[in-house]
Amino acid sequence: MAWGPIQGHDKIVAMFRRAIERNRLASTFLFVGPEGIGKSRFAKRFAQALLCTTRSDAELEPCGTCPTCKQVQSGNHPDVTWIQKPEERSFLPVRLFLGDGEQRGKEGLCHEISMKPQSGSRKIAVIEDADYLNAEGANSLLKLLEEPPPRSVLILICTSLDRQLPTIRSRCQVIRFSPLSDDEVAQVLLNQELVENQKDAQSLAENSKGSVTQALAGLDQELTDFSQQLAQAWSDPRFSSVKLAAETLSFVDQAGKESRQRRLRLKTLGEKSIDFFRTVQQTQLGVTANSSWEPTASNMLKNWSGQAEYFAEEAIEVTIEMMQHVDRNVHLTTAIEGWWDQMAKTREKCLQQA
Ligand SMILES: [Zn+2]
Repeated sequence: MAWGPIQGHDKIVAMFRRAIERNRLASTFLFVGPEGIGKSRFAKRFAQALLCTTRSDAELEPCGTCPTCKQVQSGNHPDVTWIQKPEERSFLPVRLFLGDGEQRGKEGLCHEISMKPQSGSRKIAVIEDADYLNAEGANSLLKLLEEPPPRSVLILICTSLDRQLPTIRSRCQVIRFSPLSDDEVAQVLLNQELVENQKDAQSLAENSKGSVTQALAGLDQELTDFSQQLAQAWSDPRFSSVKLAAETLSFVDQAGKESRQRRLRLKTLGEKSIDFFRTVQQTQLGVTANSSWEPTASNMLKNWSGQAEYFAEEAIEVTIEMMQHVDRNVHLTTAIEGWWDQMAKTREKCLQQA
């Protein structure tokens, strides 16, 4: 069952309905889950449902056509404050919460949410990039989290609980969003007209790990080419980790100005690398992997004096570690250099055993 255009997450909808029926809706929520599974869209529809003038709260089913629903959809409803990290900043600036200079305390999310609703029945605020909340930003929210105004709803959206300070975590109701099923990803791609047909949707969905964003990364031909280039490099034990680290860094930088885009590209590169190393293991076992990696994987098995499988196994661990660093917001240069440094060390270890 989909909730309007929202695929997956039925249990969360049901949980909210029960809470509203019992008049037990909390005031502050932390939406947690991987990128590209619909958390922001869910938050927007939730805001619509709570403000829609033609449906009751407990139905939690916005009509989508009343002026209120349309204003929320287009980001123009006076009772909804929606905050995103400005592109050029590495953190959410405090002015978004408290106002700036002379306007301090008279503007920003904390001020807005404490005002009387103008046209709706509630004040709602959404912090879309809560991953980028630093200590100063988190502190500026504490008072609001401790004493939320009556009938206000604050939603923080993030990809990992690890990235939230305990002061935030402990004051919010944590709502965990799971990755979508392949079918749900395919459905989103089709509904949003991001692909032309069912077949393309399915094939992108199969490599998406349940994330629409990941699925779309599959359309990134440069990424596919670069990961092939890395696989080629690994297939020869003489690969230069210093040169490849520099190339990886420059490739990741080209993903865009936004740190989010660069992180996603590096993580997807990690996924693809793991996919390649798994193909090496399967090929060694004589399992026909039937993937585009197979010729390179076979080559690697020939070149590594019997150590390719061992290297592949270790390289998967090293790559998972790199991806965890990315999740923990480690500086990308550090994550990339560390990754290649570990690759070089792993190679030495494997070749000593040869
Ligand atoms: Zn409506």
